[in-house]
Amino acid sequence: MQKEQFSPGGQSGEHAEWAGGLPGDHSSSVLVSPLVTRNDMPAPETGHLFADAINRLDQAMRYAHIDTEVLEKLKHPKAILQVSIPLRMDDGSLRIVEGCRVRHNDTRGPTKGGIRYHPQVNLDEIKALAFWMTCKCAVVGIPYGGAKGGVTINPKELSRLELERLSRGFIRQIADFIGPDTDIPAPDVYTNSMVMGWMMDEYSKIVRRHTPAVITGKPIPLGGSLGRDDATGRGGYYCIKELEKRRGWKASDVRVAIQGFGNVGQAVARLLHADGYKVVAVSDSQGGIFKPEGFDVPSLIQFKNESLRLKAVYCKGSVCEVVDAEAISNQELLEQDVDLLIPAALQDQITVENAHRIKAPVIVELANGPTTSEADRVLADKDVLIVPDILANAGGVTVSYFEWTQNKQGFYWSLEQVHERLQTVMVREMGAVFDLMDQHLTDMRTAAYVHALNRIGSAIEAQGTQRYFAENNQTA
Ligand code: NAD
Repeated sequence: MQKEQFSPGGQSGEHAEWAGGLPGDHSSSVLVSPLVTRNDMPAPETGHLFADAINRLDQAMRYAHIDTEVLEKLKHPKAILQVSIPLRMDDGSLRIVEGCRVRHNDTRGPTKGGIRYHPQVNLDEIKALAFWMTCKCAVVGIPYGGAKGGVTINPKELSRLELERLSRGFIRQIADFIGPDTDIPAPDVYTNSMVMGWMMDEYSKIVRRHTPAVITGKPIPLGGSLGRDDATGRGGYYCIKELEKRRGWKASDVRVAIQGFGNVGQAVARLLHADGYKVVAVSDSQGGIFKPEGFDVPSLIQFKNESLRLKAVYCKGSVCEVVDAEAISNQELLEQDVDLLIPAALQDQITVENAHRIKAPVIVELANGPTTSEADRVLADKDVLIVPDILANAGGVTVSYFEWTQNKQGFYWSLEQVHERLQTVMVREMGAVFDLMDQHLTDMRTAAYVHALNRIGSAIEAQGTQRYFAENNQTA
């Protein structure tokens, strides 16, 4: 495994003021200039998220017909790059911001995964997110492996210019690690199409050629795909429509709670509302709101996004400010008496502490990793159906793949083509996962991992395992 620890800089010379230890060696850092602040340290890598994510494979291995070497390979990310980004602030001061990029596995193709900006980003989390990307790309059968990137920053505290400098600075640091045929980033929490556009432009400058296929989720005029903006929410919506068919739901009878009201949460809320579903509870990082008769989702989205209190490119308005609704906490949102719960914010939201209080009989995971494996067991005992993240939120990476193929061909599709092809993929793979559930009499998450493992495993086995080499050393 390649593991690289980069010292800051190379491009700007700003890092000359830095005299601390290696990034990550926080104990020995020394600040030599009052202009330098180093307050964006990632949380130490003590998390359990990656280990918890990998644990899920053990159960799926019982049903997947693959060599145990496959499991061993998936337990170790292929490469990890940690960087320190020198960020010149508007007031002239210098701030050093930590970031990383993890490439988990590239057996099935170039690695693919978003870049997250969040104050709590840490390496353990990014490793888990990269692993889920490997599985997700396999579940929907697209020719990619998994990756993820993160920058430990609260982007809402930055001006637009600071945000642009940070985004370009991060790309300068990871430029040798990514590329249209090696590793292709995309948006994630608190990064959006404008950020992707800056990143693509910076990469193109470094390699001295226009390279739209290095990143997806770009603005349309810069080579983005129609339909990428709401693809994750729409993919989840197609999954819900499949459930509707199988369970015979009447849309207007289904009460929905959505945690997280950003790109993904808003998109799925809008589509469900247009179909007659009752969106009765939503929340964001400030808290939640509840209205038993259901929200008028388009005006809620307009309220959230048209807040005049904008800093950087983020909306700072919160759904909590909607007055004709009951204020609830994020915890209460998860525990509402609803028919369908959609976590669309962050990981680790449904845990062993609150799982027994969850009342929704169906959970569609649009966030990555919202349910811990311990919570899974509690929910299984209560017969809760969970459409797992690696299937439910795969619409985003699927349309990212469409964007990448369009960039490579220089030939662009209509919105209808994108929607139709996305629906085909989601319905096909949802059906395949249901078939595996029936075949192995198992839960949907395990079935989705079996589906992913079969695809990843056959690719890894095609390169040869111990059995092949031991049996063929005479005749190969
Ligand atoms: P976003 O930044 O657009 O929105 C995130 C939302 O979550 C915001 O409304 C924010 O206020 C809210 N939030 C943050 N912390 C919260 C908390 N503790 N409780 C409740 N709400 C909270 O991000 P997004 O792109 O919508 O991503 C949301 C989730 O979907 C993430 O888990 C992400 O990894 C996953 N996802 C996103 C994509 C994509 O295409 N954007 C694809 C696959 C998966």
